[in-house]
Amino acid sequence: MCGIVGYIGTKQAAPIILDGLSRLEYRGYDSAGMAIYDGEKINITKSVGRLKILENLTHGGETMAGICGIGHTRWATHGVPSNVNAHPHFNADGTITVVHNGIIENYIQLRRMLTDKGYQFLSETDTEVLAHLLDYYYKGNPMETVTKVLHRVEGSYALGILFADCPDQIFAARKDSPLVVGQNQDGCFIASDVPAILKYTRKIYYVDNQEIVRLRADHMHFYTVDEEEIQKESVTIDWDANAAEKAGYEHFMLKEMYEQPKTVTDTLLPRIKDNDIVIEELNMTDDELRGIRKIHIVACGSAYHAGMTGKYVIEGLARIPVEVDLASEFRYRNPILEEGAMVVVISQSGETADTLAALREAKARGFQVLGIVNVVGSSIAREADNVMYTWAGPEIAVATTKAYSAQLVALYLLAMKLGRVRGQIKNKEFVAMLGDLRCLPDQIELLLNNKFKIQKFSNRYIGAKDVFFIGRGIDYAISLEGSLKLKEISYIHSEAYAAGELKHGTISLIEEGTLVAAVSTQPDLYAKTISNMVEVKARGAFVLAVTCEENKEIEKAADYVIYIPETNPFFANSLAIIPLQLFGYYVAVGKGCDVDKPRNLAKSVTVE
Ligand code: GLU
Repeated sequence: MCGIVGYIGTKQAAPIILDGLSRLEYRGYDSAGMAIYDGEKINITKSVGRLKILENLTHGGETMAGICGIGHTRWATHGVPSNVNAHPHFNADGTITVVHNGIIENYIQLRRMLTDKGYQFLSETDTEVLAHLLDYYYKGNPMETVTKVLHRVEGSYALGILFADCPDQIFAARKDSPLVVGQNQDGCFIASDVPAILKYTRKIYYVDNQEIVRLRADHMHFYTVDEEEIQKESVTIDWDANAAEKAGYEHFMLKEMYEQPKTVTDTLLPRIKDNDIVIEELNMTDDELRGIRKIHIVACGSAYHAGMTGKYVIEGLARIPVEVDLASEFRYRNPILEEGAMVVVISQSGETADTLAALREAKARGFQVLGIVNVVGSSIAREADNVMYTWAGPEIAVATTKAYSAQLVALYLLAMKLGRVRGQIKNKEFVAMLGDLRCLPDQIELLLNNKFKIQKFSNRYIGAKDVFFIGRGIDYAISLEGSLKLKEISYIHSEAYAAGELKHGTISLIEEGTLVAAVSTQPDLYAKTISNMVEVKARGAFVLAVTCEENKEIEKAADYVIYIPETNPFFANSLAIIPLQLFGYYVAVGKGCDVDKPRNLAKSVTVE
């Protein structure tokens, strides 16, 4: 999820690696480390916190001799930020080291298998299994070893690997986590992202899924996981360093929107095992889950909107009553602790001051608290009784997109798990739902790739004064988030209304040409929402509809329709939000707003 840099050549490796890692610093990380071969053995230095600490420890890399090495900045997914958990990880005698971005989904099984064979683990990470698995398979041929390991691991990875036995080579591989390699007259480089090595070369090779690269000082070779050599074309990067940080996208927000298929995959797939949902880090038994009688979801901003959807999904699938509160309200409203109640707090950063205060208040009153957070080791992750992570990786744009999408998926999984243990979801239905969940990443990608339709439409609303979003049930929750995306980055006044509520007052604000975005993804409510669309249309509104492919009826009441692919109605939010995010984004871009850093807003709100 964070940074990898490796170098093999004629220059001292450590300063180059540090420099490369510093170019990835903007992404955020919690610890850093390097492994350098000094001519005899591999030396490893790690530190928690800023890269500056690692720089100081090694005098800018000068004290780590050697012309071959790998380095890493870690964004923890498994195990808190700490020295032992920082990468590189290594085998027992330190002759094999590895840096890794991503998540090894089957690490528990692998860890068990290796422990049975006598391997000892030092860290809590998923990554460490790679170091011992490499050791387990190593019989003198590193290439063969790497391929064997890749056949055993499931999940996402970008890897840099160093064998003390073969110090003239670095191995790199990837699956579903970015990795590039490059070469100049002084050596060869690996990096998780272009900016890390842009200073050294502009001729970049993008490593594809399940490819392995063997780098030597003066050349590199590409292979499939079956050791067949492949030829690759390089790409010449003509972006400046700034654009490179955004991987060529105009803004981080757009880049992060495009990362949503991966975010959803990462949050989802490691939890789906043999047609069941297993949330390892949750640490709650089925009996404990069955004992939950009431849920209070407590959050702020977009996380609150995810929580609103969570309410409909949990109530619908698990039949547990759910209340949703804004964190800043919950703590002062003297909440009543019911028997069997659980509080679920949701926060990307895990540091949101209002949410943290609500968590403490809830604990003080005796509630059991589950935290859904993106940052491992954050305050909420530490203080909550149980944690479920959204593995969205670092998010830079202030307006959240991918972390919100990951929160939705986490809530679906929780709802399904609760529904399952409470006997509310039948086997067949459960398996079908898992199938629908697995389709979400591709469906999100499809919607992103159809962005031009919404882009063209957005251009018309750059001068809009007010925009309303309406929907019922889950569609109301989607409307809230769609409206927030638009107003927070474009500064256009916008409100979301439960579609049936508009006529109780707000409809007086509708004028000739006012844009009303109607979200309609719930089949049992199609007809009702159409009636509300007709009401606003009769007052002069221009109606944009976001609905499911089957709901062609809507064309009678809408002026412009965006269709989303078929999914289980409980998961429709994950799809319907994509065109709304794009709409907010393109309106803000059209207005020339600072999309990634909207005025008056901060990424993590750490004040009450
Ligand atoms: N899952 C690994 C860990 O928690 C890799 C994290 C990363 O991508 O930085 O250590």
